[in-house]
Amino acid sequence: MNIALVGNPNSGKTTLFNELTGSNQSVGNWPGVTVEKKIGKAKFNQKTYQIIDLPGIYSLSTMSVDEVITREYVEKGDVDVIINIVDASNLERNLFLTMQLLEIQRPMIIALNMMDVLDQKGVKVDIEMLSKFLHVPIVPIVASKSKGIKECLQAAVLQANHKPELIDFYSDKTKGLIERIQSSLTTETSCTYASAIRFIEEGPEVAIGCDVEVVKIAELNEWVEQQFNNATLDRDMLIADEKYNYITSILKGALIKTKEETETISDKIDKILTHKIFAIPIFLTVMYLVFFMAFGPVGGFIKEYFEAGIEWIILQIANGLIWMNVSEVVFSLVVDGMLGGVGAVLSFLPEISILFLMLSLLENSGYMARAAFIMDRMFRRFGLSGRSFIPMLMGFGCSVPALMATRTLENEKERRLTMFIIPFMSCGAKFPVYAIFAAAFFSNNQANVVFSIYVIGIVIAILSGIILKKFINKGKVTNFIMELPQYRLPTIKNLFIHTWERVKGFVINAGTVILLAMIVIWVLQSFNFQLQLVEDSGDSIFGVIGQSIAFIFAPLGFGEWRAAMSLIVGFVAKEAVVGTLGVLYGVGEGVLESPELLAQPLRNVFTPLSAYSFMIFTLLYLPCVAAFAAMKREMNSWKWTFLAVGYQTGVAWLVAFIVYQVGSLIVG
Ligand code: GDP
Ligand code: MG
Repeated sequence: MNIALVGNPNSGKTTLFNELTGSNQSVGNWPGVTVEKKIGKAKFNQKTYQIIDLPGIYSLSTMSVDEVITREYVEKGDVDVIINIVDASNLERNLFLTMQLLEIQRPMIIALNMMDVLDQKGVKVDIEMLSKFLHVPIVPIVASKSKGIKECLQAAVLQANHKPELIDFYSDKTKGLIERIQSSLTTETSCTYASAIRFIEEGPEVAIGCDVEVVKIAELNEWVEQQFNNATLDRDMLIADEKYNYITSILKGALIKTKEETETISDKIDKILTHKIFAIPIFLTVMYLVFFMAFGPVGGFIKEYFEAGIEWIILQIANGLIWMNVSEVVFSLVVDGMLGGVGAVLSFLPEISILFLMLSLLENSGYMARAAFIMDRMFRRFGLSGRSFIPMLMGFGCSVPALMATRTLENEKERRLTMFIIPFMSCGAKFPVYAIFAAAFFSNNQANVVFSIYVIGIVIAILSGIILKKFINKGKVTNFIMELPQYRLPTIKNLFIHTWERVKGFVINAGTVILLAMIVIWVLQSFNFQLQLVEDSGDSIFGVIGQSIAFIFAPLGFGEWRAAMSLIVGFVAKEAVVGTLGVLYGVGEGVLESPELLAQPLRNVFTPLSAYSFMIFTLLYLPCVAAFAAMKREMNSWKWTFLAVGYQTGVAWLVAFIVYQVGSLIVG
C-alpha cells in the first residue's frame, strides 16, 4: 500500500516521515526533474507500507515544479491514501492546501501536527468538529516527540478505500460554473471536479487532457470569461476567496481559546509595520531614513574628513612627482588617470558604507521580509507577484546576485519579467554618480534628491512590470505565501561582516577594474588616432568618438562628449562613470589649487536640471557587463538579453528626455 505525505513547507513532513520509516529510506529524484523523491517503508501490524514524501507546497494551483509533481502524483499516481500533514499552529494557511487536496477526492486523512505549539499558545482545537466540517478523519500528533504516530498510520490504513465526501460550501454562482464546466467537458474521459475548478482558476489549458474539441473548450472558456464581466473578483481569485471564507468560518467554530493569546513582540510590531494603510508610508520613511543617514549629518561628517584625506594623499603624490621631476605625461597619467579616476570613486566610500550598513540592518532585523510582504500586496493589485520583489530588493546591492536569485521563481516567464526590471533597482555602484551630482548641484537637498532617484527606479520597475506583463507574462500571478521571520536584534558582528562583504567588493573593484579602465581611458583621451599626444582632449581618440555620439544625449540636456563617453564607459562598471568624469574633467593640477575634486568642472557643463536628467539616465540605462553576462546566463538567450538591455536603455533615454524637456519648460 502506498501512502503519500503532503503538506506545507515546515509543517513537519520530514519529521513525520522519519518517525514512520526510521532508517528504512531511500532517496532519488522525481523523473525528469531534480526534485528529491524520498521513499521509505513503515511497518505496522506485521504489514509493510510504502511512504512517499512529496515536496512541501502551499497550494496545488500554481505552476512550480514542486506543485506540479505533487498534483500529478496525487491525482494520477499510485496512491492508496494521502496523509495531509497540517501545522495546527497555522491552520488558516495550511487548510487551504487541505481544501484543494479534498477536491481531488482521493482517500485522505489529516495529521494535525504541532499540537504542543498550539497548547503553548493556549488554543484548543475541537478535532471532532473540524473533522466533521472537512469530511476526513483527523489525528492529532506531535511529530517531533513521536506522539500519535501509530494512531496516524492506523487511521491512514483504515481510510484507504474511502473517498472523502465533497464539502458543500461554494456559492451558488460558483457551483453553477463548476457544474456547467464539468458537464461540458465530460465525454469518454470524464473531467474531474478538481479540474473543473481549476478550469475556472487557470483557464482552458487545464482541459487539454479532457479529450474535448478545442473549439468547444474555447467556447466554454469564453462563457466563463463572460460570467466574470463586472464581477468583483477575478476568476482566479474567486475560488481561493471562497475557500478562505469557508476556512475562516469553520475555524471560528473549531478553535477555542483557553487563555488569552499572548501577542509576541514581533506580532505587535507587525501590526504596525504591515498595517494595510501605514505599511507603504512606513516603508518609504524607512528608505528615506537610510538616505538621510548616508547624506545627512552623519554621512556628511565622515565624508568631509574622508575626502580631505583622499585629497591630501593625491596632493602628496602629486607633490612627490613634481619633486621627482617626472615628465608631464607620467604626471598626467598618475594624477589625472589613476588617482583622479580611482579617487573620485573611492571618495564615496563613507556614503556607500552607510548605505550598505543600513541595508544589512534592514535585512538582518527581518524588515526586508516585511517589505517583500507589503510589496506583494501592492504588486498583486497590478497583477504582479511579490515573489519577484526579493530579488529586486537584492538589486539595491548588486544586480548580479539579484539576477541569480530569480532562480527561486519557478515560472519561467515571471522570471524573465523580473530580470527585465531588476536593473532599475539602483545598485550600489551607481550611487557615486548620484552622490557626486547631488553634492555639486543640490548641496542643500542631497538626501532628497538621491532618495527621489531610488523611488523613480522603483516606480519605473513597477510600471515596466505592468506593461511588460502584457507581452512577456500573460499568465496568472503565482501564489506567494512567505513566512515572516521573527524580528531580531542583529548583532554588531553580523552587521559588520555583511557590510564589509559588500564594501570590500566596491574597494576591490576600484583598485582593479576601475583602475585599469581609468588607465585605458587616460590613454584614449590623451592621444589622437595618430598616437600623438594632444593638447585638447577634444582632439583625442576618445574626444572624436565622443563628439560623434554626443548628439544622442543632446535632447537629454547633456550632449557633451565627456558626459557621453562616461556613460559608455559605465558599461565596464558603473563606478567608472564617476571615474571617467574624474579623468575627463581633469582633476589634474587643479587638485593643487582647488580642494573640490569634481564639483566645479561639472558645474561648468551641467545645470541642475541636466544633472538630474543625467542621474536618471544612469539609474535606468543598460547594466554593467557583469550584470549583462549574468542576464545572458540566467535567461539563456541572446535575444531576450538584448531585448532586456535595449528596453532598459530605451526607457532611460525616454524618461531622461521627458524629465529634461518638461523641466526646461517649467524652469523656463
Ligand atoms: P518539513 O519542512 O515539512 O519537512 O518540516 P520538518 O520536518 O523539517 O520540520 C520543521 C521544524 O518543525 C523542525 O525544526 C522540526 O523539529 C519541527 N517540528 C516538527 N514537528 C513538530 C512538532 O510536532 N512540534 C514542534 N514543536 N516542532 C515540530
Ligand atoms: Mg522537509
